[in-house]
Amino acid sequence: MSSRIQPVLSVVIPVYNEAAGIEKFHASLIAVLKDAPLTYEVLYIDDGSLDASAKVITGFHEADPHVRVLKLTRNFGKEIATTAGIHAARGDAILMLDADGQHPVEAIPRFVAKWQQGAKVVVGKRIGRQAPMLKRFGSKLFYGLFSRSMGVRVDPDTSDFRLIDKSLQLEFNRMTERNRMTRALIDWLGYDREYVTYRENDRLAGAATYSIRKLSKLAIDSAISLSTSPLYLVAYIGAVVLPVSTFLGLGMIINYALSDPLHLHATGGAYVMVLVLFLVGILLVSQGIIGLYLSHIHTETQNRPLYVVDEANTKG
Ligand code: UDP
Ligand code: MG
Repeated sequence: MSSRIQPVLSVVIPVYNEAAGIEKFHASLIAVLKDAPLTYEVLYIDDGSLDASAKVITGFHEADPHVRVLKLTRNFGKEIATTAGIHAARGDAILMLDADGQHPVEAIPRFVAKWQQGAKVVVGKRIGRQAPMLKRFGSKLFYGLFSRSMGVRVDPDTSDFRLIDKSLQLEFNRMTERNRMTRALIDWLGYDREYVTYRENDRLAGAATYSIRKLSKLAIDSAISLSTSPLYLVAYIGAVVLPVSTFLGLGMIINYALSDPLHLHATGGAYVMVLVLFLVGILLVSQGIIGLYLSHIHTETQNRPLYVVDEANTKG
């Protein structure tokens, strides 16, 4: 280890085109960390910024041994940038933070205090949030569906502003999937969580790069990567359509054979309809079966750890 400082706290910050506000952000962050009674490192990940961000954070690094910089070759997206930071972090606790000033740095000591009291995961929870209507509605819907289909508790109004203990970092680093959402993976890992509430600030400068389109893509991608229930849906529909159409078809044939005792007066069109429904039912069921296999392949290829051990007292 050539490190000059063995940090207790690593602060991981993904940066994409934040040059306009990052100096102010950095100053406020360092002011808080300096007062905290622990050693720290600040790890900036430049996610292929097109503006001067990389240069500015490299300047921070040159002036301050606490600051480390990872510069990615291009824009990989915040989730991957944050992952890169978690991989590289050397502290006993890792705090994730946005570079735009929206996560108030003044809350950091409260995260650290909870961790020092033993919490392995400390999650930032927004209060009095002023996001646009559509975004708020979208995230409610997403988290609602998510918690239901995933079998993992995902809290709405929590954000990427969170702290994890080193033991989670080790587990997190074992996860190899490409389509990822950092906070969902942390939620997946389990562990008891503690919460720190905070009021979200306005951006220091610039505009959020996550458009509704990008957010929906993120939501869909992570839903697919975390849940296989859409695949089961087709199988369920098939499981309803096939028996119903079989029942109808058989009923019509028997009715016809007995010279229409129910007086259905079924026309040729009706027979064709029921036949089509029957065939569609067969198709849906076969697709459903393929879907079920796909869902198994999906979970196998994700190659997640089978389980995560919180504590082991197995000497005996
Ligand atoms: N970010 C990133 N790569 C991207 C987009 C954003 O590293 O492709 C960073 C950005 O610099 C900021 C954080 O991720 O530090 C949150 O981004 P933003 O404020 O645009 O999104 P919000 O979550 O506020 O909607
Ligand atoms: Mg932001």
